[in-house]
Amino acid sequence: MNIYLDNAATTALDARVLDAMLPYLQSEYGNPSSIHGPGRTARLAIEESRKKVATLLDCAPAEIFFTSCGTESTNTILNGAVDSLGCSHIITSPIEHHATLFTAENIAKIKGVALLFVKHHNDGTIDLDDFQRCLSQCPQHKTLVSLMHANNEIGTINQIELIGEYCAAHGAFFHSDMVQTVGHKSISLKQTPVHFASASAHKFHGPKGTGIMYINGSVKILPYIIGGGQERNMRAGTENVAGIVGFASALAFALDDMEAENQHTAILKDYCWKQLLETFPAISLNGNLSEALPRVLNILMPLSEKAEMLQMALDIKGIAISGGSACSSGALGGSHVINHLSKKAGVPLRISFSKWNTTEDVDQLIKAMKEIME
Ligand code: PLP
Repeated sequence: MNIYLDNAATTALDARVLDAMLPYLQSEYGNPSSIHGPGRTARLAIEESRKKVATLLDCAPAEIFFTSCGTESTNTILNGAVDSLGCSHIITSPIEHHATLFTAENIAKIKGVALLFVKHHNDGTIDLDDFQRCLSQCPQHKTLVSLMHANNEIGTINQIELIGEYCAAHGAFFHSDMVQTVGHKSISLKQTPVHFASASAHKFHGPKGTGIMYINGSVKILPYIIGGGQERNMRAGTENVAGIVGFASALAFALDDMEAENQHTAILKDYCWKQLLETFPAISLNGNLSEALPRVLNILMPLSEKAEMLQMALDIKGIAISGGSACSSGALGGSHVINHLSKKAGVPLRISFSKWNTTEDVDQLIKAMKEIME
């Protein structure tokens, strides 16, 4: 048995995306910075991909920069906001992905920037009153707000339109980590009041090791990685041509499939939650069911020795789920998100679906969990 229910950590590569990438891993191997034919072919593939991504996310091609991952995009943006835009304050949240949280903490430590953490409601959504209080404590035009679109552990979606409006009223720069929503939600960057965004291909059936950063045309930051001047001087290093082609191709397929996938995963999530509740009535939900990604379900199992072993015991049976984010799955330190949101003792389990999961997968999961917990 091999059941993969950890799609918030990463997704399987779509075969159609692999087909699009293969020429750039084999015959079309020119360096995009070379001026000869093979180089120009590679350059064209990058620029076509950039246009495709920009069209799909409704922004200008010049606002899209390819990077190696969501983490790199976020590091570039946070450091750039401080170094290039003179931000002296960063507002973020304690339940951001570590790509944001640890980067902001590091910047605060090394560069002496003030760090403010906004409060949450119990379901993980931002407390907008507290957010406004945080903003009022920060200087206008010298503050970066970094708040994620959707949380990777509990799937809760933040009202980034509203957050962006508050930022604009205060003259604050706004970065949103959209790693969990790009490819899963319809996003118009033109209509969304963000200055910066990060995304990553491997969350929507694209290849690992390819990300983008969106930098709105109204702002300019200096690069984080210095060298050959690729990506119009914003990200040095020979481009991952196949990965870039894979990003654009995966995004196109993901958005084509999005509605059907979201409906399908919402049905699976609802079915799974009901089956779990019937089987283990003492469980509770982390996050909320309605304002959340349809593919992410996070539950809290009451604390017991067996519950603590559950994730590993399921793995032995060939079922992959997570105890938190990919970085902490398998580690026993617990989840910084759940620890922050819930005072209840328990074992968090994240079950996350893709278009390729079935109700039989859920049935097998529940059956296996029952056997382990008996
Ligand atoms: N932000 C969120 C919300 C994520 O879920 C992840 C991936 O786990 C990242 C950032 C990091 O992205 P990447 O793996 O591309 O560095």
